[in-house]
Amino acid sequence: MIRAAFLRATLLAITLMVAAQLAQAALSARDQETQAMERIVADDPRAAMKESENWLEQGNKTGDKALQLKATRLMSLAITSLEDAQKLISVAERGLKQAREAKDTQAECEFLNAKAVATASEGKYVDAQAIFDEAILVAENAGLKRCATGVMVSKAFNYGLLGRDAESLALLFKAHQRYVELGDAIGARSTLGAIGNAYNHDRSSREDLLKALSYHEQSIPPDAEKSARHELATIHFNTGVVHQKLRDFPKAKLSYQKAMTLFRSLGDPNGEAFVNHRLGVVAGETGRWEEALSYQDKALPVMTATGDATMMFNIQRNRAKAFAHLDKRRESLDALAKTDAIRSKIDSSWIEVTYLADAAAIHARLGDHEKAWRNQVLLREAEMRNFNEAKEKDAAEVQTRFEVKQKEAENALLRAREMESEARRVAMLLAIVLLLFVLGGLGWYLFRQGQQNRRFANLALRDDLTGLPNRRSIVEYARVQLGAARMDGSKLCLALIDVDEFKSINDECGHAVGDAVLAAIAAVCAQQLRSNDKLGRYGGEEFLLIMPGSDLTQVPQVFTRLRSVVQQLQVSGLPATRKLTFSMGAAQVQGPADDLDKLTKRADDALYRAKQGGRDRYELG
Ligand code: GH3
Ligand code: MG
Ligand code: MG
Repeated sequence: MIRAAFLRATLLAITLMVAAQLAQAALSARDQETQAMERIVADDPRAAMKESENWLEQGNKTGDKALQLKATRLMSLAITSLEDAQKLISVAERGLKQAREAKDTQAECEFLNAKAVATASEGKYVDAQAIFDEAILVAENAGLKRCATGVMVSKAFNYGLLGRDAESLALLFKAHQRYVELGDAIGARSTLGAIGNAYNHDRSSREDLLKALSYHEQSIPPDAEKSARHELATIHFNTGVVHQKLRDFPKAKLSYQKAMTLFRSLGDPNGEAFVNHRLGVVAGETGRWEEALSYQDKALPVMTATGDATMMFNIQRNRAKAFAHLDKRRESLDALAKTDAIRSKIDSSWIEVTYLADAAAIHARLGDHEKAWRNQVLLREAEMRNFNEAKEKDAAEVQTRFEVKQKEAENALLRAREMESEARRVAMLLAIVLLLFVLGGLGWYLFRQGQQNRRFANLALRDDLTGLPNRRSIVEYARVQLGAARMDGSKLCLALIDVDEFKSINDECGHAVGDAVLAAIAAVCAQQLRSNDKLGRYGGEEFLLIMPGSDLTQVPQVFTRLRSVVQQLQVSGLPATRKLTFSMGAAQVQGPADDLDKLTKRADDALYRAKQGGRDRYELG
């Protein structure tokens, strides 16, 4: 396996070096013409729009069909950039007819792309996917590589909206590579920005978000101020979103303000509305709800006019949240109902889960515990459904993630290739070494992963109530990790967590509330963990936490982090005065003779001492 990976890496490196020499091929005249139109749009889509209207008028006057078609092409590029879904669909349909009449495949590909983008803006992501595929097929069959590559970038964005992040990234790396092969430096650079966006998704780790920042930076046009103002505004906007996710609000605001200044100077109200929406989210996240509301209210009419379903959804749910925090019950419920109406038109599990989580929080905030509870149940069901779907896709997902890692390494090579020739050789050598490392490591990782997957294959993996790994599965994980730790002498720490005085919750509030408490504790704790750490339900109100690579010195920190989120939990049906606490007993691997039973026993003894010592504390075994 490892040897095969090395062989593959070497072959790949050689192929890329040869390709580097051959790839300086110039773009075709048609591609250059298209690229020139894209540049006008990247700078100022509204000016491009006016220009296209002039062309169209002229074309209509003289009956020049070619000019009419060219005008419609520029118009569709401009409207795509301005994200006006309603206008785009009609222009795309008109253009598609013209293109097919003129048997102009390049234009047909572009209009199919525009139609797909418009379809996605209406929330029909799945329908959009089929249109993207049609566009790619049309272009590839006609040998129009550049157009097909452009569609891949849009399709990748749509994958992101469908929550298929690994596939989105894999496709973008492919597109980036193709742009480089085509000798299209601008296409390659702007695809780096799209890669940045793909690294910024719902479940992004901090590491992914930092990658996103770096890719956004690399996508900044060199002659930015002069010739690509709209593109630059978008990059600042996207950079702001990443900073916001990293919870660096001052930097986020700075990026948004840069974007706002550019959008204003371009007279682009849509761009301003996007920024206002995000500034509203920042205000909410920092507890300034009046301000949050006023930003969302500014964005609302603009987005209502363009008919962007995803944006409308985001604006209305943020309004509902702000009203709830301002104790404006009627307005909040009204905005929530509007959110629900938009949600039902969008075919995305991400949208569904987001809505249910927001609805539960808003109802709880408004004191409607019954409704909050119902939404929480629906949320859990939706998450389980997604989880089961994801499990079915797992094999493909592992493969795709492998491809993404591989593409990251190839991408490093490609970028090295774009450097000066002297420095280039050195950088290339370094990149090849890196590539060999990554692929070697990945081969090993995949081998181990495969081994573990086979071991897990026949087990029922999840606990129904909490969605966490169940006892069998978490113990199996512990066993595998312990084996690995003993083999290479690395650290491993295990902790038993037991909810304090849990029986009294059942007795006083009922079993259903007890269940909700367990689910809530599981959810917030699981969120706090690093990607290698795993939490499972060990039994009743007891959880088992496995921390590979950690030892007992890390336990106080982990305990404090979990304690603080559990303390803040509010569960509907549970009196606000009843604070939730737990006790923890932890143990670490002690040499190669240690086994899982001994390790668990030491953790259990420590847990017993924590309970004896007064609960709401940890003990080390
Ligand atoms: P201590 O702090 O000493 O751990 O006290 P405790 O009340 O948490 O511990 P005890 O072991 O006496 O009680 C645990 C209770 O958890 C008893 C059992 O009925 C309840 N329980 C176990 N599984 C579930 C479950 O899935 N749902 C609910 N609602 N209750 C459960
Ligand atoms: Mg117990
Ligand atoms: Mg207990």
